[in-house]
Amino acid sequence: IIEIGQPEHSLVTTCAYCGVGCSFKAEMRGDELVRMLAYKDGKANHGHSCVKGRFAYGYANHGDRILNPMIREKTSDPWREVSWEEALSHVASEFRRLQYQHGRESIGVITSSRCTNEETFLVQKLARAVFGNNNTDTCARVCHSPTGYGLGQTFGTSAGTQDFDSVEQSDVILVIGANPTDGHPVFGSRLKKRIRQGAKLIVIDPRRIDLVRTPHVEAAHHLPLRPGTNVAVLTSLAHVIVTETLYDEAFIRERCDWDEFQDWAEFVSREENSPETVGALSGVDPEEIRGAARLYATGGNGAIYYGLGVTEHSQGSTTVMAIANLAMATGNLGRPGVGVNPLRGQNNVQGSCDMGSFPHEFPGYRHVSIDEVRESFEKIWGVSLNDEPGLRINNMLDAAVEGSFKGIYIQGEDILQSDPDTHHVAAGLAAMECVVVHDLFLNETANYAHVFLPGSTFLEKDGTFTNAERRINRVRKVMTPRAGYADWEVTQEIANAMGANWTYTHPSQIMAEIALTTPSFTGVTYELLDEKGSIQWPCNDKAPEGTPIMHVDGFVRGKGKFIRTEYVATDERTGPRFPLLLTTGRILSQYNVGAQTRRTANSVWHEEDRLEINPIDAEVRGVKDGDWVRIASRAGETSLRALITDRVVPGVVYTTFHHPSTQANVVTTDYSDWATSCPEYKVTAVQISPSNGQ
Ligand code: SF4
Repeated sequence: IIEIGQPEHSLVTTCAYCGVGCSFKAEMRGDELVRMLAYKDGKANHGHSCVKGRFAYGYANHGDRILNPMIREKTSDPWREVSWEEALSHVASEFRRLQYQHGRESIGVITSSRCTNEETFLVQKLARAVFGNNNTDTCARVCHSPTGYGLGQTFGTSAGTQDFDSVEQSDVILVIGANPTDGHPVFGSRLKKRIRQGAKLIVIDPRRIDLVRTPHVEAAHHLPLRPGTNVAVLTSLAHVIVTETLYDEAFIRERCDWDEFQDWAEFVSREENSPETVGALSGVDPEEIRGAARLYATGGNGAIYYGLGVTEHSQGSTTVMAIANLAMATGNLGRPGVGVNPLRGQNNVQGSCDMGSFPHEFPGYRHVSIDEVRESFEKIWGVSLNDEPGLRINNMLDAAVEGSFKGIYIQGEDILQSDPDTHHVAAGLAAMECVVVHDLFLNETANYAHVFLPGSTFLEKDGTFTNAERRINRVRKVMTPRAGYADWEVTQEIANAMGANWTYTHPSQIMAEIALTTPSFTGVTYELLDEKGSIQWPCNDKAPEGTPIMHVDGFVRGKGKFIRTEYVATDERTGPRFPLLLTTGRILSQYNVGAQTRRTANSVWHEEDRLEINPIDAEVRGVKDGDWVRIASRAGETSLRALITDRVVPGVVYTTFHHPSTQANVVTTDYSDWATSCPEYKVTAVQISPSNGQ
């Protein structure tokens, strides 16, 4: 029994874990957080919560928090605590020195999908308006950047089309590359409820996730495809829809370009996309492909939900476009119960992308080379801006190894643990002269840092997060920043130490600037958010109350665009040396690399990662349940305990990546999405063998 004491007052705020964006009542006694209660009026969660949002906030007061800025000359030196003034002045002078010695492009920033919209807006502004380059990227690069590209090309904007409530009117739910009951638990429960009410479920996933078969829920079709064959399977669904004339001609003629559709229809109808050919390639029963296609096209309102099993592939962007093609071909867009819905992993992936974190786009997804857009920012910011796209994370690391990139400011992101090909990340960081890590804890990346700036938790600041349904939710300051500054204040101090004159005194002023510069946010104010509880963008003159469902009367780009989605096999191939395919995911109680969840006092947050192995693969290698196994790929090797299960098919192994000791990214490769460089985390050819755990 835990004695929690009586709360004295409360504030409504937003969970800082996944992209569902649940609202919570933070109950406090003085400046102490007593408990978090799911908020019944929260429009994303309607009073529900999962174990993470409800209980995993203890990290905010954990003893591992670093509360003083620290500096060291070399990464082999011990850290030296310094004042904020000294740390900020050191960062500014180092960044200016590097630009003087190595050029304007020699430094950059990485923003975080964990931080608020306002903080993210300021970090990309720091790069563009103060550094004078567009070297800004976001950790969304390594998760949903293909969503940005794929939906931008087909529909005209990078965003889920529906609100979560829309699922109440879905008749067919297609889940691909996502495991909502673990990754997005509150929405996962909602999916289960809808399926229990009679909606039909199609799951496309190499693994038998819980949704496939759980009490009172059973998928009508599970397509356990071989990792890396998403595009082939989705195009084969389209083959069935076109060759059996199951498409919605009226919708296509009205909302899309009929000639483009016909060109696409000719392509998908080819024999190479038939269920038999694709079945042989992907390992999926051709009759399951046919059944799934018929159900999706003719079963009523069809909604697609997808996750990182779609995006984190060498054809991630192509897969997103293949999903969009299916929805357009069947008319499953622009009304309740249908749509294309990326399930965002982190709390503010949507917002991080919206706020212009990518090196080629200003806030609102507008390319830096568009003169009128750039000039509008120049007028408001009072500086001239660079019209060339900057460097992506991987380009920054490559340039560092080559010697032209020298300094980086990383806010709220542990790139050493999160990004693929750990050895290359380490080499890039080690080659830089000034690595500034701004975070809660001394994370793995901080091993390569010269400056550490203490970060603030979501409980210590005001701001907003935007969830997977484009809902802008308020984050409210529940306690005083333990290190003295909220993250947005630190960015402002760096900018001003480098010569800017930013004068924000509250994040609401940053939101006012976002509204001034970003067409989909022009109607957003803190007053409106307080009045409505939350708002879904676009919120502007045309939609002053926000927009629950996108593309109702027409696509943002005008006509929806059908794009041929040729299947191209990844270069990551199995062979005699590495005969198995490794893919990865999450469990409900943990969150990403576990920096927060592992620092919460409850044993559920300390379970180790396991490697799931099919009994057939385990037997031939002499591996038993609970044994240590060595996993080797061409990139590296690590060891994990085995979990023998038929959740994975023979030839496929699976692990989560919540513990640093797992080192899953030591084995992932440097292959990435052709359009966005999103890493191919989901396909790694490996071999496994018994190990002693060393
Ligand atoms: Fe937080 Fe996501 Fe759980 Fe909601 S479902 S409480 S947003 S982790």
